[in-house]
Amino acid sequence: MKSNKQKRLELEVKRQRREKKKAVAYGTVPVNPLALCPDNSYGAPLFVTRGFYVDQPFSCRDCGKQEIWTATQQKWWYEVAKGEVWTSAIRCRACRRRERERQTEARRVHLEGVAKQQQARQTLTDAHHTAREHQREGTWKLTTPHGSTTPRKRP
Ligand SMILES: [Zn+2]
Repeated sequence: MKSNKQKRLELEVKRQRREKKKAVAYGTVPVNPLALCPDNSYGAPLFVTRGFYVDQPFSCRDCGKQEIWTATQQKWWYEVAKGEVWTSAIRCRACRRRERERQTEARRVHLEGVAKQQQARQTLTDAHHTAREHQREGTWKLTTPHGSTTPRKRP
């Protein structure tokens, strides 16, 4: 026959176990340290020593909006995208998208510029070859182009 005290103690242990389970299930995701991006610095970030990710509120660096970086998003960032373990979310969803679009656009403009340069260089090279062929054949001579670069006549 169990004493009331013992029964109460067992109930309390069960309750704590239930609470713990609930706490782990809600807003937390276990960390898989083997999947993390290798890190050479001393010590480990809190989520590694703790063993699980926790929903993390933060304010957006760009617009100041409060948002939650969820445990699931963190797991994805560190273990799938291999984000460095000391990095964390700094922009809200909207600003992140805007930033991504800005970067994509900047890259597009840059690549377009590179392509144009290459094209220009190719055109110059072609013109140069043509000029040399003409010169060799004596059919055409390189002359000063007319326009702004033409030397002005003295008055
Ligand atoms: Zn924002």
